[in-house]
Amino acid sequence: MGRRYCDLCGEGGSSGIESVSGEVSMRIPPLQRIDISTFFVAIAAFLTLAGAAKAADLLDVRLGVTSRDATRIVIDLSDAPDYTISGDDHGAGRISIDLNGVKGAPATQKGAGHVASFSVEPVGSDATRITFDFAKTAKIKEQFIIPPSAGVKKHRLVVDLATADKAAFVASLPSRYEDLTEVLKAVTAPTQVAAAEEPKPKPAPAPAKEELPIIVIDAGHGGADPGATGVGGVKEKAVTLAAAKKLAEILNAKGRYRIVMTRADDTRLDVYERSRLAREAGAQLFISLHADAFHDESVRGGSIYTVSEEGRARSAQTAEELGDHDAFSLNLNEFSPEVSSILFDKAQAYTENNSSRFAEILVRNLKGVTPLINNTHRKGNLFVLLAPDVPAALFELAYMSNEEDVANLTSAAWRERTMTAVATAIDDYFDSLKNTRHASN
Ligand SMILES: [Zn+2]
Repeated sequence: MGRRYCDLCGEGGSSGIESVSGEVSMRIPPLQRIDISTFFVAIAAFLTLAGAAKAADLLDVRLGVTSRDATRIVIDLSDAPDYTISGDDHGAGRISIDLNGVKGAPATQKGAGHVASFSVEPVGSDATRITFDFAKTAKIKEQFIIPPSAGVKKHRLVVDLATADKAAFVASLPSRYEDLTEVLKAVTAPTQVAAAEEPKPKPAPAPAKEELPIIVIDAGHGGADPGATGVGGVKEKAVTLAAAKKLAEILNAKGRYRIVMTRADDTRLDVYERSRLAREAGAQLFISLHADAFHDESVRGGSIYTVSEEGRARSAQTAEELGDHDAFSLNLNEFSPEVSSILFDKAQAYTENNSSRFAEILVRNLKGVTPLINNTHRKGNLFVLLAPDVPAALFELAYMSNEEDVANLTSAAWRERTMTAVATAIDDYFDSLKNTRHASN
């Protein structure tokens, strides 16, 4: 196998790539930049409490249909769970229950009642997420834990669902903000570790109301760096710029975003400049456009990359070497080295979840609009995607080495159609962040 993407985008060949499937839902709530310092304080509290959490085993997940309009989810555990419930309005709606300190075997099962299906997947090394996709929209009526009783050794986490509309569903996911207030209270208490560490997060800046999300569009290559050369001598730098300009035009017309382009003409920029630009702009999303080339000319179709575990590790290592744990405009060096490194890791995980969320939404929107390769969402060790605090994806539009793909890349109609789908995906992504609420015990 040769390189699956161009040199500048990354340095790996196909070896650095893994395909991923399924939507990655977020464990940490979407945050305005204003909330970020609170976010880190919350993480500090999490660190304080994490040591106390006991490991538990996931024994069973059961669904009971008690009536046409009521479904009960029961999760059997060997110990009392430390859990978080989140949800979003994807499809008929869905909820994810994250069980911290719980190990469970990955599985996907058919649902019953309001639940179409559910999946169990590990999150990191010591948490398990169970995601319930709804067959019909429901709200969370109640959630509670039944401790062991005579004859029953296990702990049961119960979530009762009742038929409702989307608005009621979203409203039934209690606001995360109250929880954070609790968390804040906890960490500011003198006995907590966070206080002992004497972190002094910067006071939150005054909220800039109705600030439009900033999106950075990155046209790959440029200037002396032409990227791949395609059938008929077409240059990658030209097709990426044309696509980037079209996308900017469509997004600007929506009036919902502020668009920043890494380049608007035939200029050369290195990869670090591109992601630095995104960080400096305070971008909420970074999308890089490239076009692939492969020795097998029959290979065609688009693909989406987000940062791999390897890329994440490299970014963390660089921060470590430079002693520069800076993310979300918060200087993490104000914490002890150990804590700042963990916070940096949490920031990366938060960003990576959002990157994957966007990538999955993008794949959905591109289906049927432009050809896509199998396992469209892939992960790569790509320089341009390594900012720890800007959700980012790289869209390889098509193959320069394939004749039909080049015909697409140079077609104004294709560009219009495909960039419209990208813009819709961006809308969907920001909508999905808005509609996500978190609740925890
Ligand atoms: Zn490229």
